[in-house]
Amino acid sequence: RSTLQLELDAGQEIQYQPGDHVGVFPCNRKEIVDGVLSRLTIRVDLDVPVQVQVLKANNTSNGVVKTWEPHDTVPSCSLRTLLTWFLDITTPLAPIQLENLASVATDPEEQRRLLQLATNPSAYEEWRNWKFPHLLEVLTEFPSVRPTASLLVTHLNPLQPRFYSISSSPEVHPGQIHLTVAVVNYKTQGGKGPTHYGVCSNFLQDFPPGQNIHLFVRSAHNFSLPLSRNLPVIMVGPGTGIAPFRGFWQHKMALAQASGGT
Ligand SMILES: Cc1cc2nc3c(=O)[nH]c(=O)nc-3n(C[C@H](O)[C@H](O)[C@H](O)COP(=O)(O)OP(=O)(O)OC[C@H]3O[C@@H](n4cnc5c(N)ncnc54)[C@H](O)[C@@H]3O)c2cc1C
Repeated sequence: RSTLQLELDAGQEIQYQPGDHVGVFPCNRKEIVDGVLSRLTIRVDLDVPVQVQVLKANNTSNGVVKTWEPHDTVPSCSLRTLLTWFLDITTPLAPIQLENLASVATDPEEQRRLLQLATNPSAYEEWRNWKFPHLLEVLTEFPSVRPTASLLVTHLNPLQPRFYSISSSPEVHPGQIHLTVAVVNYKTQGGKGPTHYGVCSNFLQDFPPGQNIHLFVRSAHNFSLPLSRNLPVIMVGPGTGIAPFRGFWQHKMALAQASGGT
């Protein structure tokens, strides 16, 4: 398992305290996105912006008025961008999502199996824990399922940012944020299945230098150095658990040197 030390340049002063972390917005792997897109029943250009609209009924003084309105959470962009940047296509589908896929399965046996997974918790847990399948693997296991783009994008969850402890001190590296990232790779099915790649850690590993990464700083109010600079600190962290401590010791050393200490 490899571990990365990333040095990100904000291009300007950036405010944070040692112990804070960042939320990184990753993107999904191209081969999974392309595979899922190839399985959709699509009537639009994959690279042309689309807007998903919902028919909403509003009570007005003239009675119920129905209007098409933009979907609350699905942004207007191309299907490829949606699946790449905005939707979670790697976390195993929940039972309710499997039930939605069952509604478009044309093979009765596949439909029966999908409904079994959706309604039988022990069958679902066994399937999920053994295969930990991403969306393309589900669509491959059930080839008669060819959902419409709108069915799929309105039932997938948003792709979540991943958090990483800041591994640097602003006193030592102004305008920079360093991260210490363990790259997540594993084989499913007891080590004999396909390799799965953690979305964000592999996104960071493969990221070309010089490109922009979208992230935000989040304060960790309960995790900071003691206010008294002279108090000794014992830092304990397994593996990448040492990530924030690199920021702590850089910070303590910088403050000690600035005040003439060691
Ligand atoms: C506050 C905070 C700070 C953090 N700081 C750091 C940090 O400094 N450095 C760091 O490296 N990480 C850190 N993390 C963890 C980090 O946010 C991500 O969870 C991690 O990088 C994995 O994300 P990913 O997108 O690569 O993997 P994902 O795509 O999210 O996949 C991870 C998921 O894969 C599954 N999985 C993983 N291994 C296996 C396996 N062997 N078998 C079956 N399933 C498996 C698990 O369900 C796991 O949740 C931090 C998390 C938090 C909440």
